[in-house]
Amino acid sequence: MRQNRIEQMLRTIEQECALTGYATGRYALRPVVMEAMAGVPRDEFVPPELKHRAYDNGPLPIGEGQTISQPFIVALMTDLLEPRPNHTILEIGCGSGYQAAVLSSLVKQVISIEIIPHLATLASERLRRLGFDNVRVLTGDGYQGLPEQAPFDGIIVTAAASHVPVPLFEQLKPGGRLVIPVGLPYMHQELLVISKDLDGQRHTRSVLPVIFVPLTRKQDEIDKDNG
Ligand code: SAH
Repeated sequence: MRQNRIEQMLRTIEQECALTGYATGRYALRPVVMEAMAGVPRDEFVPPELKHRAYDNGPLPIGEGQTISQPFIVALMTDLLEPRPNHTILEIGCGSGYQAAVLSSLVKQVISIEIIPHLATLASERLRRLGFDNVRVLTGDGYQGLPEQAPFDGIIVTAAASHVPVPLFEQLKPGGRLVIPVGLPYMHQELLVISKDLDGQRHTRSVLPVIFVPLTRKQDEIDKDNG
């Protein structure tokens, strides 16, 4: 039953990929990414009363005003990150833990930061219970990344920032990628893929218009950055 619903979700993702391929450059996602999507029970990551909609290709509320992202966008961002089995990935915006769970089977380790403590606790317990043992959930503001564990092979941000946080680019390995939605709160956002070449130079590609919940920050942190 669940497997049928997952299969259906995968077909919808394929269709949406084909339709957006002209913009994303990805007319089809790599089979390993589709297999990773097939391996995560999304119904475990949504509130009980929304389980019947768990495999619809749309975002769903997860409490605290936050959402679990649309399956197509999760799959696309996973593909754009180009994860490899030896990679350590930093995620900013753990939310339900779904994106982290999808990445879990593709890489060595996922470290996921969530700013809302209650969501971080729920996600961490859920990931443990479901056996996603190589995901670590931390509570905090992900804007500053995680300097003590840097550099990372890839960084994925699943909340929209007004600009690309400098600390996150700095914490990428040469050859690494940062996948991040950038724009205004709930409008004019675009999904960016930023790569750091072997000389440390930055290359940016805009992939697709998207809508994410905002990357939030404490005002005193913003003031600190502005000197
Ligand atoms: N990846 C999530 C999607 C979560 S929505 C999933 O698969 O379910 C974005 C999440 O980013 C929200 O839970 C929000 O609380 C969190 N967030 C917003 N600003 C943040 C910040 N500065 N640092 C860490 N998490 C943040």
